[in-house]
Amino acid sequence: MKTKVQLKSYEPIIKTTPENWYDWKWQLRNSLKTLEDFEKHFDLSTNEKEGFQISKNKFKIEVSPYYASLVEKGHFNDPVRQTFMPNSLEGQTGLQEQLDPLGEKNNSPTARVLHRYPDRALFLVTDLCSLYCRYCTRKHFTGKDQAYVKKSEYEQSIDYFKRHSQIKEVLISGGDPLTLSNERIETILKDLYAIPHIELIRIGSRIPATLPMRIDQQLIGIFKKYKPIYLMTHFNHPNEVTYDAAERLEMLVDNGVPVFNQMVLLNGVNNDPALIYALSRRLLHLRVKPYYMFQCDPSRGSDHFRTPVEQSLQIQKKLWGRASGLSLPNLSLDIPSGGGKVGFTPNFLDRVVGNEYQFTGWDGVSEKYISPSQDSVILPHVSELYQSEFKI
Ligand code: SF4
Repeated sequence: MKTKVQLKSYEPIIKTTPENWYDWKWQLRNSLKTLEDFEKHFDLSTNEKEGFQISKNKFKIEVSPYYASLVEKGHFNDPVRQTFMPNSLEGQTGLQEQLDPLGEKNNSPTARVLHRYPDRALFLVTDLCSLYCRYCTRKHFTGKDQAYVKKSEYEQSIDYFKRHSQIKEVLISGGDPLTLSNERIETILKDLYAIPHIELIRIGSRIPATLPMRIDQQLIGIFKKYKPIYLMTHFNHPNEVTYDAAERLEMLVDNGVPVFNQMVLLNGVNNDPALIYALSRRLLHLRVKPYYMFQCDPSRGSDHFRTPVEQSLQIQKKLWGRASGLSLPNLSLDIPSGGGKVGFTPNFLDRVVGNEYQFTGWDGVSEKYISPSQDSVILPHVSELYQSEFKI
């Protein structure tokens, strides 16, 4: 594949035929799960070995051979390695640590639905992932062996969506929904789009970064049949943008699936503006919009991944003018205990005097903006036309 941006190449850690390697089910069957599996392919540090003990019965360990191949050998601090490799640091009790940092259980009207915002809701269709990110925010649910929704839970969820006509958007999430079979995915899309008020379906999946071979032609055909489908993916580092990932992202976009990236700022993995810039340029070239850059949530065992808020703001400030608006992700965080998502931006406002707002831009140019004072000129009957849609 020819591109103008640099893509990562890799050596498969398991020697097999291309047919096997590019078969996503083979990848899942051959995932590394145990200490012994990992020791076959990595020299493990003492901290990492202890991590296997500490994670026992707490948070699943698993990575596909594909994703494990992206690690540069011999580097304990390799960014990709840190995202899936257990570490003794997971045993430390973090500041404000919670098993359910987003308070999701309080906004869960049925076992598989999360309804926090008026016009959209989450449908947790599986708890399986192709790897278990050590900083996962949904550790209270993910990897607990509840792979597919029970029939009764599925029906309850669909019924909930039917009964709540204010829900216009459903985000299919998990776990990773693309670990389900194409047939399951088609059933879910069909049932949701059969509900008259569901206008849009988003799918949250880390698969394009972690197991791109999963994006097969049959899946693309399903997405085309049930459009609009938006894919919200999760790349954290330029080393995840391989030729394989780029090829499957292109397949999605070429076939009418808009793709957005939601990264997490992670200490020691990607908390550097140059690195985020490189990731954004690669994604944008592949027609993936860098959308969110999340502050890491205080989920259990993930404190060592969290960046200080002040540092996150500095990173965003350095990116501000250097990166185009299109390539700049929104720095955001979820207010712990279910307060919802909030964006936060570097402060460019120096002072306000009357209606004069003094700003200094990203590269030091300072000037005031004089705010006009005038009455609204939107005609009431024009505004009323849209009020019923907005009232939720
Ligand atoms: S892929 Fe998503 S849900 Fe799965 S472990 Fe990673 S962050 Fe959690």
